[in-house]
Amino acid sequence: MAELVAERGVVPGLATVLVGEDPASEIYVRRKGEACREVGMASFHHPLPADASADEVRALLARLNADPTVHGVLLQLPLPPPLDGDAMTATIDPAKDVDGLTPVNAGLLARGRPGLVPCTPAGVMELLRAAGTELTGARAVVLGRSSLVGRPLAALLLAADATVVHCHSRTRDLPAACREGEVLIAAAGRPRLVTRDMVAEGATVIDVGINRTDEGLVGDVDFEAVRERAGAITPVPGGVGPVTIAMLLANTVEAARAQTPPG
Ligand code: NAD
Repeated sequence: MAELVAERGVVPGLATVLVGEDPASEIYVRRKGEACREVGMASFHHPLPADASADEVRALLARLNADPTVHGVLLQLPLPPPLDGDAMTATIDPAKDVDGLTPVNAGLLARGRPGLVPCTPAGVMELLRAAGTELTGARAVVLGRSSLVGRPLAALLLAADATVVHCHSRTRDLPAACREGEVLIAAAGRPRLVTRDMVAEGATVIDVGINRTDEGLVGDVDFEAVRERAGAITPVPGGVGPVTIAMLLANTVEAARAQTPPG
């Protein structure tokens, strides 16, 4: 980023759009803005009322698409009904789609081509890389098939030459499937779904889940029981979440670089 600022006079800018007042979304968006400012990036926040129309959301996104000081546009999901999150996301310029959720970037990822990659799956890959986890030929089990996490993650693992087993709510004998994983990634949004008996000895376990329960925030993995069996494991909170934000900043810098060629 320093090179962008020093040589091209470009300060990467991220615009966040939040429709409505969902408390969890408000926290996520606030953290994203704070992270931008901490590293010297520009952050522009655009709140819209919960009853904003599809035309209003589209108009704001079009304005941000056209704004040269904005290099990344993030529409915080989910949107309040009846707004269609997929349809609204699809109107973001793919070059500014730092969440990697437009059909263009999702298609590039599915084809194994370079593009902007969704932040949480990118963060999971970064954690695996930092932990030195061998992925080539390794059996990697992904729990969850959302467009936000499970699907892009499976594509990234496949691109990294892992043998991917993709599980979801209809998978038969989930414990047996999970036990096959040298790498096990839980993104099901079910508190403590993954128990000790579902994890192979020495497996690398990444817990993407964030579930609000009476006991506070818990992941999809029964951390205390599974940590004794796993070779490595991420906690919730404090695991995937912070890395996801780092990936958002990295995507915004990448987008800014691509939008402002030198000279
Ligand atoms: P989602 O609800 O869209 O998708 C959940 C997926 O899990 C579905 O594909 C479903 O088939 C599968 N699933 C549900 N119950 C299952 C079960 N019992 N067994 C097997 N599969 C099951 O959720 P999402 O948006 O993918 O998010 C998943 C979790 O990750 C949530 O807890 C969410 O809060 C969290 N999340 C965390 C971050 C982060 O930055 N750490 C980012 C995004 C999402």
